[in-house]
Amino acid sequence: RAKSEGKGTYHFFEAALDEEARRRRQLELDLRSAVREGGFELHFQPLYSMAEQRLKGFEALIRWNHPERGLVSPAEFIPLAEETGLIVQIGEWVIRDACARAAAWPGHLSVAVNISPRQFTSPVLAQTIVQALAASGLPANRLELEITESIFIGNVERTLAMLHSLRGLGVRIALDDFGTGYSSLSYLRSFPFDKLKIDQSFVRDLGRDASAGAIIRAITTLAAALGIETLAEGVELESTMEALQREGCDLIQGYLVSRPVPDGAVPALITRLAGEAPHRAAAG
Ligand code: C2E
Ligand code: MG
Ligand code: MG
Ligand code: MG
Repeated sequence: RAKSEGKGTYHFFEAALDEEARRRRQLELDLRSAVREGGFELHFQPLYSMAEQRLKGFEALIRWNHPERGLVSPAEFIPLAEETGLIVQIGEWVIRDACARAAAWPGHLSVAVNISPRQFTSPVLAQTIVQALAASGLPANRLELEITESIFIGNVERTLAMLHSLRGLGVRIALDDFGTGYSSLSYLRSFPFDKLKIDQSFVRDLGRDASAGAIIRAITTLAAALGIETLAEGVELESTMEALQREGCDLIQGYLVSRPVPDGAVPALITRLAGEAPHRAAAG
C-alpha cells in the first residue's frame, strides 16, 4: 500500500512539474511577443525631499500589459526576463521611454530607472543611455540609475570599472534595496554612490521595532559622513515619515506620497505635490 501511494505521489509531482514548466514556457512566449509588439508601460512614483518639502523626481516602474491577465507586476516577469536574457531589450525600452517622458517634465525633476544585474553587464548599456539622452534631449544629470548590490557578485573590478564609466556619462547612481545584501558596507568604500535607497523592510518596522530605527540612524549617519543622499522606500504612514525625518533621512518614496501612476497622471501629481506636503489623506 505504502509503495503504491508513493508511486501516486511521484506521478502527482511529475504532473505538477509538467504544469509548472508549461506555464513558464507560455509566459516566456508571451513575454517575447510583448517585447516585439511593445506590450509594456512605465508607471511613475514620486521621490520626495522632506528637508526641502519638494518633489525631486520619479522612479520609473515597468508594468506588463498582458492581453489576458491585465497589468502584470515586475516581480512576476523580471526574474524570467533575466533568465532568458530578454531583460536587455526590455531594459533598453525602459531607458528610452523613461528619458523621453522625463524630458517633458519641469527641469528640476529627475527620473530613476532600475537596472537589473544582467542588463548591467551588457556591453550595450552605456551606448543605450547615450542614445536615449541624445534622442530625448534629457540632460544626463536628470537620469539616475538604480542598481542593487548583486552586481558586485562575480567580478568586482569589472563592476567598478563599469560604474565609473557610467558615472562618466554624467548620470547619477543609486544603490537600491540597501541593507538586504550580504556585505553592503564594503561597497560604500569602493564607489561614491549618489544615493542609498533604504529597503522597505527596515522602513516598515520603524516605530514597531527599536532595532529598525537604530539601523536607519546608522545608515543615515554613515551616508551623511560620506556625502551620500538617503531615501527611505515603502513609506506608508505619516508617523513613519516623521520618524525618518528625526533619523536624518533626506527623501521618502511610498504610498504616503503616492502610488506609482501612469504617465498621463504625472502632471496632476506634480501640481498636487507643489501645493501640499504629503499626508495620510493623500495616500491612495
Ligand atoms: P524597487 O526598485 O525596489 O521598487 C520599489 C517597489 O516598491 C515598487 O514595486 C513599488 O510599487 C513598491 N512600493 C512603493 N511604495 C510602496 C509602499 O508604500 N508600500 C509598498 N508595500 N510597496 C511600495 P513594483 O513596481 O512592483 O516593482 C518591484 C521591483 O521590480 C522593483 O523594486 C524593481 O526591483 C523591479 N523593477 C520595476 N521596474 C523595473 C524595470 O523597469 N527594470 C528592472 N530591471 N526592474 C524593475
Ligand atoms: Mg528601484
Ligand atoms: Mg528599491
Ligand atoms: Mg525594493
